[in-house]
Amino acid sequence: METQLLSANAADLSLAAQLIQSGQVVGMPTETVYGLAADATNPDAVARIFEAKGRPSDNPLIVHIADVSDLDAVAAEVPPLAMTLADAFWPGPLTMIFKKRDEIPLITTGGLDTVGVRMPNHDTARALIRASLKPLAAPSANRSGYPSPTTAQHVLHDMQGRIPAILDGGECACGLESTVICFDEDETVRILRPGFVTAEMLRAVAPSVVIDSGIFRDAASNEAVRSPGMKYRHYAPNARVTLVEGSAERFRQLIALQQNEGVYALIFDSDAADFPYPHRTFGSTSEEQGNLLFAKLRELDEIGAKEVFVRMPEKEGVGLAVYNRLLRAAGFDVIHLAELK
Ligand code: AMP
Ligand code: MG
Repeated sequence: METQLLSANAADLSLAAQLIQSGQVVGMPTETVYGLAADATNPDAVARIFEAKGRPSDNPLIVHIADVSDLDAVAAEVPPLAMTLADAFWPGPLTMIFKKRDEIPLITTGGLDTVGVRMPNHDTARALIRASLKPLAAPSANRSGYPSPTTAQHVLHDMQGRIPAILDGGECACGLESTVICFDEDETVRILRPGFVTAEMLRAVAPSVVIDSGIFRDAASNEAVRSPGMKYRHYAPNARVTLVEGSAERFRQLIALQQNEGVYALIFDSDAADFPYPHRTFGSTSEEQGNLLFAKLRELDEIGAKEVFVRMPEKEGVGLAVYNRLLRAAGFDVIHLAELK
């Protein structure tokens, strides 16, 4: 199969929608990362997503809708608080988990009776959903385990020959996947995956918000977790990644001690002046780091990095999402450097 790169013009959009309607998988730009989109109600189409990605069958897909009014076609029960959150954050990088309707097959939800739903803040994505006349299941468009794609070229790198087409919508505005939440019995909002919609932003509209501890743990593959994605290695480049907590000065000393070939540092813009060792930078604010992280991890593979030491990001706000992705990319390999008095 030859993978076509399509633009977001009307003719290409209608071609992409035809592919979706015939049960095929199309690379779709969103504001978070690129997705692999297919008709969420068609089990054969959804099976093609799992096959193209090499994704474990118990890891559920997020279902994308173009309008809030489409939610009832996907979710069986929608708590009033969810509508408040939809008003505040949709379209945008927030996925909410609901009881699923029978029209959404179990293959889409990894065998769960719940479904994650999101309305993307991206004109091309919503135009594709509307033209397809279906809700679209769309996980990140990377090979399973690899960093998510933030450009059409990243998708082509991973999916060349595996899917018929990719819609090119330019660089993703966020660069990290959506915030995933569920509702506890008492309407407490529980964050299962941090993202650009932060705990602080949710607290401004929801009475109670908790961060699930699974976000920071290396869950065993047979462990019961609230979100199946927590069990798997994610976001990891081929290079070995180690996350390093400590000052810029101590970090530099650690890098100076490395003797192996192919060692790189991934540092903040503010550390880069006179940094004498091979490195890439990934911004200064948490938002910039979120934008750049996956593209930089992919670039480090391209240039032949074998081992990457990454400076620990902030753990507040969007920084929590950057930290979560890096923890998993590093397989929870963290060095804490003692500070010299
Ligand atoms: P991705 O499609 O790569 O962005 O991954 C989507 C993630 O959302 C999965 O790995 C799950 O952890 C989470 N998710 C999706 N649907 C559900 C659900 N019904 N219940 C719990 N977590 C979900
Ligand atoms: Mg993913």
